[in-house]
Amino acid sequence: MGKQCRYFQWIEIDLNVLNHNIKALRSHLRLGTKFMAVVKRNAYGCGALTISRAALEAGAEYLGVYSLEEALELREAGMHAPLLIMGPVSPDRADTVVKQRLTPTVVEMELARALSHAGKKLDTVAEVHVKIDTGLHRFGVSIEESPHLIRCIGELFNIKVAGLYTHFSSADETDQTPTKVQLKRFLKLARLFPQIKLLHAANSAATLQFPETHLDMVRVGISIYGFYPSAAVRKTVLLKPVLSLKTRVETVN
Ligand SMILES: *Cc1c(COP(=O)(O)O)cnc(C)c1O
Repeated sequence: MGKQCRYFQWIEIDLNVLNHNIKALRSHLRLGTKFMAVVKRNAYGCGALTISRAALEAGAEYLGVYSLEEALELREAGMHAPLLIMGPVSPDRADTVVKQRLTPTVVEMELARALSHAGKKLDTVAEVHVKIDTGLHRFGVSIEESPHLIRCIGELFNIKVAGLYTHFSSADETDQTPTKVQLKRFLKLARLFPQIKLLHAANSAATLQFPETHLDMVRVGISIYGFYPSAAVRKTVLLKPVLSLKTRVETVN
């Protein structure tokens, strides 16, 4: 009878490496450009709480999640940093959003009105960001409709559009044209609203490759975990993988 082997495998997350990646990415930015660590989907599987805490320690000013549930989990764990919810939020959760000082993304008036009500009830101002669809055709308000939407929100009380953003569809591809077109559309729209001071557009790929997209803040997901978004992306910053797979082998008699 031969000996049998038992394998133990686990994934290790190195927070020092995360710290290195964020600092390296930040040093690639102009002074004054803010850094949002995108920690949606349980921080790309690495654990939202641990990663968020470490990202803030490394100098991230903002956290980005997809859903209200993800945002509440971070608040409940005592994370008080500015927190952008990048996906849709149901208007009937407006009170919770305002109470927890979360920054929701607004793309239509129903949520804006609900937040305005909640802001009035709680005697505060709900700060929101408006997401402009400049070409991805996912979640966002179209370029054509956005000036009207932003003006209508501006007429409501207890709500303020603190930021405008867009998302690039192909910043990780070799052809830079779509990104340039999207940026141009976005900036043209933003120029209509000079009072809105926080413009952001860049994901990891754009942060690495297109400094002109950095604007007031970058939103970096995959690259804080140490990955380049695609093989076509220029490695302007040296990144190291935060995750490693470890194996221990034991023989069993
Ligand atoms: C996921 C996401 C990001 C981060 O994208 P990466 O390619 O992982 O850097 C940025 N912005 C929005 C709106 C996102 O949904």
